[in-house]
Amino acid sequence: MKVIAVGCTHAGTFAVKQTLANHPDAEVTIYEKNDNISFLSCGIALYLGKEIKNNDPKGLFYSSPEELKSLGANVQMEHLVTKIDPDQKKVTVKNLETGTETEDTYDKLIMTSGSLPIVPPIPGIESKRVYLCKNWHDAQKLFQEAPKAKSITVIGSGYIGAELAEAYSKQDYEVNLIDGANRVLYKYFDEKFTDILADDYQQNGVKLELGTKVSAFEEVDDGIIVKTEDQRSVKSDIAILCIGFKPNTELLKGKVEMMPNGAIITDDYMHSSNPDIFAAGDSAAVHYNPTGKNAYIPLATNAVRQGMLIGENLTEDKVKYLGTQSSSGLMLYGRTYVSTGLNMAAAKAQGIKAHQVIVEDNYRPEFMLTTEPVLMSLVYDPDTRRILGGALTSKYDVSQSGNVLSVCIQNHNTIDDLAMVDMLFQPQFDRPLNYLNILAQAAQAKEAK
Ligand SMILES: Cc1cc2nc3c(=O)[nH]c(=O)nc-3n(C[C@H](O)[C@H](O)[C@H](O)COP(=O)(O)OP(=O)(O)OC[C@H]3O[C@@H](n4cnc5c(N)ncnc54)[C@H](O)[C@@H]3O)c2cc1C
Repeated sequence: MKVIAVGCTHAGTFAVKQTLANHPDAEVTIYEKNDNISFLSCGIALYLGKEIKNNDPKGLFYSSPEELKSLGANVQMEHLVTKIDPDQKKVTVKNLETGTETEDTYDKLIMTSGSLPIVPPIPGIESKRVYLCKNWHDAQKLFQEAPKAKSITVIGSGYIGAELAEAYSKQDYEVNLIDGANRVLYKYFDEKFTDILADDYQQNGVKLELGTKVSAFEEVDDGIIVKTEDQRSVKSDIAILCIGFKPNTELLKGKVEMMPNGAIITDDYMHSSNPDIFAAGDSAAVHYNPTGKNAYIPLATNAVRQGMLIGENLTEDKVKYLGTQSSSGLMLYGRTYVSTGLNMAAAKAQGIKAHQVIVEDNYRPEFMLTTEPVLMSLVYDPDTRRILGGALTSKYDVSQSGNVLSVCIQNHNTIDDLAMVDMLFQPQFDRPLNYLNILAQAAQAKEAK
């Protein structure tokens, strides 16, 4: 069996490893246009924030071409797939070093070509002072530029922009954070949560320019001026664009079923609409459990799981994709923020009937030497009482409680299940009722009124 993987960062690496584990006799060829694999982009902000061991970004790779070769893959780095012909089961590949083009055939194709940063046609955006933040090459440019710059404008306050703004502000850069929405991280958290973060940004000197979109960039001798639609203008040494990603799937356009944005739609076993073409990661849609629909949620969490499933299901449907809640977490200014499923704003935007409770409670009893408040939100369907989403923030590490809520959504649990589910009690950790039990009991009380 000949297998070709197009692209090898997270989805590709996991798909290839699982394929080789399940099909040791398969001839697996990887075509990767870059000169590296498995770079953890989440480490960019950590490196800039000086939170990486030995300050060495090489630790941000967990695999290598050599490792995949040792497992039996034919690894072709700096090879760009330029054409896919599903009828002939053929790909055209350009060697980026020599410029030569060759063809190769497959029995199964693994499309793990990922995503590209969204770069809108804004005047001046091509300036060398406007940086992207996606892969190892972008990271290196940022790492080289960071020591020279004193002021930075981050555009986009999703989790990538939010983390960069925090990391730079802690290193005493002047930081501006611009977003078209009125709140930072608005897709993930409701207002009470984002208010805390907005406060922390301001306390740490980050200038928030919210509710406005960038209309132009003007490069000047000593910096870049970012202009906004409402006539604001912000000058800094560099700007970093973090406004989202789009699937990198042009090669299969019109050849397999896609969402309107180009994300490849897969079944529960990661086949695209062509049974011999599999897709995973940022090139693919996810099955979003809170709504039961396809969605585009480019996260490494999805990429690695979907990638493994390709290896499991390459020749036979064996392991079903469980879908995702889009669970994510951040640590900003010493606070954990975790979210899973829908927040209230997202439920409203999608026309989904939802109720919400927001509760603040200390995570463990007040008689302990210390405790910390935890702010919690639970979003649920008032008719079925099913949990649709949740969020927590605290100076205490509540990340694993976000994972508990994720499992609740995955398993279609109700507020009544969460209110009474057995959770450990020991005053070091919580009260006789865990704070998540208390959150769900508040939802029950709200519905009893
Ligand atoms: C700054 C940053 C921070 C992040 N933090 C987190 C986090 O904390 N948690 C989380 O879950 N997710 C995070 N993500 C998202 C996560 O990195 C992506 O979801 C993940 O990289 C997707 O992996 P992928 O393999 O599907 O796609 P990609 O990472 O996009 O990789 C696709 C690969 O395909 C190659 N390729 C593309 N086209 C071709 C072609 N035609 N021929 C050959 N090769 C090709 C590319 O060179 C690339 O190596 C972060 C992303 C960024 C940018």
